[in-house]
Amino acid sequence: MYNNTKHYINGEWLDGSSQETIDVINPATEEVFGQVGRGTKEDVDRAVEAAKEAFIEYRTWSVDDRVELLDRIIDGYEARKEDIIETIRLELGSPVTKAEEVHWQAGMNHFVAARDALKSFQFDERRGNHLVTKEPIGVVGLITPWNFPTNQTSLKIGAALAAGCTMVLKPALNTPMAAIILAEIIDAAGAPKGVFNLVNGKGSEVGDAISTHKDVTMVSFTGSGVTGSKIMENCAKDFKKVSLELGGKSAYVILEDADLKASAQRAVRNVMNNSGQVCSAGTRTLVPSSVYDAFVEEVLKEVDSVVVGDTKDKSVEMGPLVSLDQYETVQQYIQKGIDEGAELIAGGLGKPEGLEKGYYVKPTVFSKVDNQMAIAQEEIFGPVMSLIAYDDVEEAIEIANDSVYGLAGYVEGSDLEQKRYVARSIRTGVVMIDGVPRDPMLPFGGYKQSGIGREWGDYGIEEYLEVKSITAYYDGE
Ligand code: NAD
Repeated sequence: MYNNTKHYINGEWLDGSSQETIDVINPATEEVFGQVGRGTKEDVDRAVEAAKEAFIEYRTWSVDDRVELLDRIIDGYEARKEDIIETIRLELGSPVTKAEEVHWQAGMNHFVAARDALKSFQFDERRGNHLVTKEPIGVVGLITPWNFPTNQTSLKIGAALAAGCTMVLKPALNTPMAAIILAEIIDAAGAPKGVFNLVNGKGSEVGDAISTHKDVTMVSFTGSGVTGSKIMENCAKDFKKVSLELGGKSAYVILEDADLKASAQRAVRNVMNNSGQVCSAGTRTLVPSSVYDAFVEEVLKEVDSVVVGDTKDKSVEMGPLVSLDQYETVQQYIQKGIDEGAELIAGGLGKPEGLEKGYYVKPTVFSKVDNQMAIAQEEIFGPVMSLIAYDDVEEAIEIANDSVYGLAGYVEGSDLEQKRYVARSIRTGVVMIDGVPRDPMLPFGGYKQSGIGREWGDYGIEEYLEVKSITAYYDGE
């Protein structure tokens, strides 16, 4: 059993003010494999107090000292690699290979990106005899979702530490164990007490206490729009800064001159990655009518090759969904797609054969989807691909942009000028051409209801800074 019912506050593992615990479930077995403490407002108060005290000193740390701290965290993250992989396998239900190649690696990439961006970050700028300087914003609240346990946490922690902020982290209830390992790594790296604090618990209790706390100056949140909106309302009361990374319903645009086999492979893999629990997944695949049937054939071949199963098996690519709730939501959406008249061409309702235990879902594809259907407009957060036909590029752009979301976009084709045109026309914060992966030094974030602000690399650090002008700073020089 993984039991850690304490919270990490002011450099120590402390009992919470309540003795209540919360079970953590392995979604592949549906069994409880650990417990964490159910934090309270009092625990948040203690953590914020510690962070406020630590800020007085930490905000004055030199860039070199902060780089060294991040270096030690990176070493610790490397040293705990096996623990992190196993923990993500257990709490998220991620197949072991993906837990390493996707999850562990993403956390590493973001710590490294924060450190490297910090080394060359311009905090001061001279304008005439005056100074424009960027300073850490203060105590920040970090609230994260479950779908990428080390990715979401490391990119917030890395950027906040690089900026000179102190913090209180509240990870998602489904996946609190990887965050506990991160706290141990930060502790072992010698972060001064109070710089980093972790309080586990419910969003409506711990998350709410963070976003309403008068001494928290900014909240960085990743999660659903409903929660993001509540947090923004809380923050509006005392004008806290908010940074929000929310949902998506991204378009994967296949151009007429695309290599159909290669682009179908990438489009399918993109939707099925992490069992479809990816905010930036390209779940609306836009296909030219002229090549629609040929593309569908390639999609079916590819979906058939997705290996779903035991998370310990190294050849498995897709594990279960994270929870029963998530399983039921995805089933409801599959039913909705059928009821709306979309054509189900792969997967469908129920569990894959032989996988009755665990929250497994079949890789599912709907054809002949209309962009107004719920399965094309709402975020399903499961392995469900919607194929939508279009007649010309302008129509593809119109469909891509006909969404309340604006997180990501994808374009595949041969003509570079046309790909550039489509990439510039899609109203999203990120566009990937021909499946070329995102670089951790590039900014990440959404337009419209996909969020406010940017994370990753130097843009990520920027979020945690205030800008100050000082006149006559250079007088006498
Ligand atoms: P969620 O909004 O339910 O929860 C996210 C976090 O907020 C959790 O830690 C939760 O405990 C906390 N929370 C819940 N209620 C709260 C409240 N009232 N006050 C403060 N905190 C509260 O989201 P989820 O189900 O964990 O994650 C899935 C969602 O996250 C999807 O919509 C997905 O698209 C989104 N997401 C976005 C990105 C991105 O970068 N844009 C990345 C990953 C996930």
